Amino acid sequence: LDLKNEDLSFLSELGSGNGGTVTKVLHEKSNTVMAKKVVFIDAKPTVRKQILRELQILHECNSPHIVSFYGAYLAEPHICMCMEYMDSGSLDGIYRKNGPVRSDVCGKIVVTVVHGLTYLYDVHRIIHRDVKPSNILVNRQGQIKICDFGVSGELINSIADTFVGTSTYMSPERIQGDQYSVKSDVWSLGISVIELALGRFPFSDDDGNDDEGDDDDDIPEELRGTLSPTKPDAQAAARAAGARARKTKKEPAGVSLEGSGAQMSILDLLQHIVNEPAPKLPPVAPNGRRFSTDMVQFIDLCLCKDVAKRPSPKELTEHSYVKEAEAAKVDLLGWVKGLK
Ligand code: ATP
Ligand code: MG
Repeated sequence: LDLKNEDLSFLSELGSGNGGTVTKVLHEKSNTVMAKKVVFIDAKPTVRKQILRELQILHECNSPHIVSFYGAYLAEPHICMCMEYMDSGSLDGIYRKNGPVRSDVCGKIVVTVVHGLTYLYDVHRIIHRDVKPSNILVNRQGQIKICDFGVSGELINSIADTFVGTSTYMSPERIQGDQYSVKSDVWSLGISVIELALGRFPFSDDDGNDDEGDDDDDIPEELRGTLSPTKPDAQAAARAAGARARKTKKEPAGVSLEGSGAQMSILDLLQHIVNEPAPKLPPVAPNGRRFSTDMVQFIDLCLCKDVAKRPSPKELTEHSYVKEAEAAKVDLLGWVKGLK
């Protein structure tokens, strides 16, 4: 498919993140509805062409667990990527509007991510690098798929130069700047599943998993607000990016947005992730909902701070929680239809 801007007509805005904006468009020649992601890249023409070449691997990423790719093109000074439009949106939006995600559905989400990551790594040697609820999409057929993985090394570098790099879904080893691997995606999966199952980000003030503990007193008041489930964590991520960028001696636009006090706060949070025990899925949620021992143990494994003890996505495909979730009959169509 030869894609260009003039063949795409705007339908609606879908959202925007740290590095780009996503719109729903119609490709008129093929009569296909697509999601178009526009990423602003401040890079030389040679680098941009290189990015475009690297993105072509996306044409070979074919899996039921991965959002399909239609093509990418340059629309100076942007890079546009067109992908399958997922009409029920991303899981962050879904839980914010509908509350905690049902446990059986969480099981199917885990199956998608674990198998999707295994496919990406085994077949293409790709590490996702950005597993989080906003990068897990759902459609009205009840399909769940992952998107926004790091295919292009040049694109990753350029975005890091221009913008953001750190998020609060990052594993301790990645925050510390250590060599990281596919296992870092497994940590991010663990954090994401707790968030979906509880309906709130696990690093917040009223952690259900640690009611009596005072660990969270380490997190300053204003940051707790930033990370509360009702507010997007984009600000925190931007500050994190600032902190990280300063560490790597880059100064992205976002750095000067906040006072130095706020930047210290995100450092506190990142330090908390590195130094304190990992979050856990409580056996009983604050709303009284129970989680299976298998699910709790699965999350514990994903959130092993010791990378050597944390399984790879492929190893997780053999875990009893994943095996059972795979076999389970879940009415995903019914679930999607009932969503707000
Ligand atoms: P970040 O930039 O930090 O990764 P993000 O994932 O929220 O955050 P984008 O990837 O730019 O940012 O996506 C913005 C929003 O657009 C998402 O939250 C999602 O709801 C929506 N979206 C992205 N891709 C699609 C798609 N293929 N189909 C439908 N909606 C999509
Ligand atoms: Mg995204």
